[in-house]
Amino acid sequence: MSAYVPGEQPQDGGWVKLNTNENPYPPSPAVVRAVREALGDDGSSLRLYPSPDSSPLRAAAAEAHAFPSSRVVAGNGSDDLLNLLIRAYAGPGRPVGMLDPSYSLYPVLAAAQDAPVVRVPIGPDFRLDAAAVAASGAALFFLTNPNAPLGAGFPAAEIASLASRFPGLLVVDEAYAAFAEEDCIALAKEMPNVVVTRTLSKGHALAGLRAGYALCPAEVADVLHRVRDSYNLDRLAQAAAAAALRDAGWLAHNVGLIKRTRTRMLHELTAMGWRCVTPCGNFVLTEPASARRAASRETSAHAFEHLRSRRILVRRFPGHPLTEKGLRVSVGTDAEADAFLAAAREWTALD
Ligand code: PMP
Repeated sequence: MSAYVPGEQPQDGGWVKLNTNENPYPPSPAVVRAVREALGDDGSSLRLYPSPDSSPLRAAAAEAHAFPSSRVVAGNGSDDLLNLLIRAYAGPGRPVGMLDPSYSLYPVLAAAQDAPVVRVPIGPDFRLDAAAVAASGAALFFLTNPNAPLGAGFPAAEIASLASRFPGLLVVDEAYAAFAEEDCIALAKEMPNVVVTRTLSKGHALAGLRAGYALCPAEVADVLHRVRDSYNLDRLAQAAAAAALRDAGWLAHNVGLIKRTRTRMLHELTAMGWRCVTPCGNFVLTEPASARRAASRETSAHAFEHLRSRRILVRRFPGHPLTEKGLRVSVGTDAEADAFLAAAREWTALD
């Protein structure tokens, strides 16, 4: 098997880092207070193992979504939950389904369990082919909504209708849902075959901590608790994530800022002649083009290098026809967006 290839994480400073969809703002001050408190003056709390089932985090997630805490499972990042779901429900003869394109970690996790992968293509109109998902034969299907790396969102009503027809476990990966107009939490409350996974990495600005959770049917929660590591989240991550989930005001404000910058990026890129997918996450997939260069894989590589020469890091996905002409650009602060847009304009005027 081959390993997942994460986006570049440069360790030297001076980059405008718009390549891994991190939040550009610091987390809620309540998070910093909670970590300090959990650490104490001398750090002696670290002698003790944390809550084995992350109860503080699960209680906060349950409150935030009016969801029963007994059906919330916490993970070391939502990646941990994706892995647990595959370990528990997929294997030889029990395929993992995914949209194509979507998150490239799923096939890596499936390979580790020797599970076949079924891919349902997303068409050029970015519509969800619900009939193909329903007939995919997957034991569990990952529906990334909003989609990454496209950024497109699928209507919750279409997912609800799909859930009632799909015979397997439908996992709606909502890593980017904080920035979207709709989510499937109501569906996870009702349906016996729907799991929603969430992360604290994006909307809550805690990618460095590694915390996520799944909202599950009771039976699935029970299964995931059996297969997870007994202490899968550390003490500080639990305290921080719980504080972040309780600060709904901070989340709404932060998401508001990011959506405002996202709208500006979308308008300015479109005005420059760069086609964009209507973004529902904290990133924009856009196709560089200029008077001399039509959008293409090569043009995207050329623009990428130009941005890189200006110390602006974005991400390319050259392996799929829907993404190969594009650059995926995380929504940063206004200053970061301005630096990116200036370099993009400079590239557009080249030749
Ligand atoms: N799902 C999708 C679609 C993602 O893009 C990411 C982030 N790379 C994740 C899950 C994982 O997020 P986390 O940081 O919580 O592991």
